[in-house]
Amino acid sequence: MSLLNDIHELLLPRLCPVCGKLLMKSEDVLCAFCAIGLPRYHIQRIDDNILLRTVWDTADVHRATTFLTYNHNSPYHNLVIGIKFHGRSDLAVRLGRWAAMEAAKYGFWDKADALVPVPLTRWRRWRRGYNQAEMLARGMAEVTGLPVLNLLKRTKNRTPQSRLSSEVRQRNAEGIYRATIPEEWRGKCLVIVDDVMTTGATLSNCARALLNADENAEICIFPLTYAG
Ligand SMILES: [Zn+2]
Repeated sequence: MSLLNDIHELLLPRLCPVCGKLLMKSEDVLCAFCAIGLPRYHIQRIDDNILLRTVWDTADVHRATTFLTYNHNSPYHNLVIGIKFHGRSDLAVRLGRWAAMEAAKYGFWDKADALVPVPLTRWRRWRRGYNQAEMLARGMAEVTGLPVLNLLKRTKNRTPQSRLSSEVRQRNAEGIYRATIPEEWRGKCLVIVDDVMTTGATLSNCARALLNADENAEICIFPLTYAG
């Protein structure tokens, strides 16, 4: 088995996705140097923080956390590139696991019932072969034991706008997400998982879609990275 592994390493060398250096056998998905330097985002409070304040105006979200700081100019940006564009679903699962372990330290999962990934359009999901948010959620599920529920769908609004009230019209303009929540998952605490949070619009739209489907749902958000 080890000989096979050696041949595999020789033919397909494993590289650190952050710095591009060859990984040693003892190193997992990142080199030791990059693993130590991960730009962790230190969340002070899960019930009142900058992520929550970003979405509070538009959606009723109870708790929020994140794992890493997202910076376009940092080499750690390559982690998001890897999971989105380079087919690294394995990396997404691993990052989800790390993020979940970190959040467990301050009790983020205590009240959570399920993980809900932000969906891709069907076309993009097909092109990519997987949804990176779902892979992150799967990694989180391995640590927390929570189920991953694909309750959200990304849709295009086809209802003629003129037939709708202005409130619904406004919601539809932003609301490309739709949720269906089965009876047994109503009134539960749902954690929306995504890769990057910038303006918070996607997470807030997803939160609203879930709340439209079940006003008793308790919504939390967990983007892997935050670009604040
Ligand atoms: Zn590295």
